[in-house]
Amino acid sequence: MSTSTQTRDESVGSSKQQQPSSSTAVPSFRSVNYKAWIAKGPKQPMVLETVDLGPLTNEDVEVAVESCGLCHSDLSVLNNDWGNSQFPAILGHEVIGRVTAVGPNAKGITVGQHVGVGWNSASCMHCRQCMSGSHHLCPEVQATILGHRGGFATHIRAHWAWVIPLPEKLNFADAGPLLCGGITVFSPLAMYATPSQRVGIIGIGGLGHMAVKFAHAYGCDVTAFTSSESKFDEAKSFGANHVLSSKDSAAIKKLAGSFDLLISTVNVKLDWEAMIAALAPNGRLHVVGAVLEPIPVAAFSLIGQQRSVSGSPSGSPVATATMLDFAARHNIAPQTEHYPMSKINEAFARLESGKARYRIVLDADF
Ligand SMILES: [Zn+2]
Ligand SMILES: [Zn+2]
Repeated sequence: MSTSTQTRDESVGSSKQQQPSSSTAVPSFRSVNYKAWIAKGPKQPMVLETVDLGPLTNEDVEVAVESCGLCHSDLSVLNNDWGNSQFPAILGHEVIGRVTAVGPNAKGITVGQHVGVGWNSASCMHCRQCMSGSHHLCPEVQATILGHRGGFATHIRAHWAWVIPLPEKLNFADAGPLLCGGITVFSPLAMYATPSQRVGIIGIGGLGHMAVKFAHAYGCDVTAFTSSESKFDEAKSFGANHVLSSKDSAAIKKLAGSFDLLISTVNVKLDWEAMIAALAPNGRLHVVGAVLEPIPVAAFSLIGQQRSVSGSPSGSPVATATMLDFAARHNIAPQTEHYPMSKINEAFARLESGKARYRIVLDADF
């Protein structure tokens, strides 16, 4: 095991059941050459190295990575934008692959199965949240790329509950981004929208373009808000009934009182007052984009019309499986640009440039 990887291992201390037990751990008898793209520090280019994953723990599943989506959160962690990155880091949390090994206590997963792994890789499995099906809200939930090895690698390991079997009819090659971006925008639709409602998707990028596709397939009247007029036609091709500039405060003000649900996928400041005013009675502004500046909310803008402002992170394993079924049934796939994983640093630069349309997938080429 390389020293660097050992340091990372020691930092994975949040989920106790993940620790190998010498008496019950599966011996690492398989001779596998594990490799991964490793970020040694903030904003450093990633380098390919051999890693020793050690014995597979009882409840873990090992997956040979076929492809892995590149999410904006990978870039945020690489740049340590949130201040919680742990280096050295193996990024990548939109994994599509095949199961190569299962721990003796792993349930419901078999070797050879096509599966996905997303933002989270483990949770405690005994807290109130885990026991009620909201594993993604577990206080000990283990993010795949924070103190855990991610999917820009030959293999990834995750707790069996977080390894999601893929429906047969899913477009596997492009499915990676569904595992993080897809579930992040599908969750609020599943929680709050009904098919007869007017839904607005703010920001037509990696998350937003999937949100438009989901909301359209769900049957909603969909308005896409984008700061880039060059995306207007494409947003309509994704299923938007209406398209509007997210910078046009005057136009947004004209829509006062009209949206049942607004899902914000952006990480920049908007005319929040106009957006909240655009909500119908009982309407909800739901935030999934990690905007770092506070969103100002006037109490009266909520009280009078009984409006809400809320947020959510990715989703539970069952919500993810439901989303994948929905995507397979409605032929929903993200619009992707593919890079071989060996061009990972180029792909990150492309993402950072803001030019990717709309989601990058790295295909394993070790
Ligand atoms: Zn838990
Ligand atoms: Zn993500």
